[in-house]
Amino acid sequence: MTSVRPPRAGRESPVPRPAVFLDRDGTLTEARHYPTRPSDLVLQPGIGPWLRTLREVHGAALVVVTNQSGLARALFTDRDLEAMHRRLRDELASVGVELDGIYTCPHHVDGVVPELARRCPCRKPEPGMLLRAATELRLDLARSWMIGDFATDVEAGHRAGCRTAWVGPRATAAPTARTATTTGGAATTATATPPAPAPAAPTVRAATTAEALREICRRGA
Ligand SMILES: [Mg+2]
Ligand SMILES: [Zn+2]
Repeated sequence: MTSVRPPRAGRESPVPRPAVFLDRDGTLTEARHYPTRPSDLVLQPGIGPWLRTLREVHGAALVVVTNQSGLARALFTDRDLEAMHRRLRDELASVGVELDGIYTCPHHVDGVVPELARRCPCRKPEPGMLLRAATELRLDLARSWMIGDFATDVEAGHRAGCRTAWVGPRATAAPTARTATTTGGAATTATATPPAPAPAAPTVRAATTAEALREICRRGA
């Protein structure tokens, strides 16, 4: 697990800040299958103003937490990842947004790079990256949000004690409750069956990252 930029001394507030933890692929940037080049990272539309508001008005740290098992699978190297994250910071800077940290889990049990091919406490849905960031950046997890496009992002946020936002097609496709189906002409009533014990429900669901960020701004970080 690497944090690309350590916190700068002297900028830490005396009181722990809330954070907005952002998944990278499919949340901060458009979904791509195993991005390996800087040009693969394209920011989601409309997110700049909301990210600026969260950081500058709400005082939230903006922290990327990303599973990058492509490192364990030798699909790309640390150098490639650094180049991608330089590009990511540049793209964000162009819309006036600075990140407080980028945390990466490079592991995967099926990896081919021996030192990375293992279970770890940082691969989401484990909360390790969020917990480490909370210590290093002095963050208040109970006032923080985790936003992501996979159920594992939501789970990691819950395990860290954060509120959560689930975005994108998976978030909006997943049923909120079991509904009765109608067959033939007979009307059926909604069953009393409780929903299956779902992984923790997200606090917010939204079709797009920009919508979720707007909602987080409304509810307050
Ligand atoms: Mg994702
Ligand atoms: Zn890991």
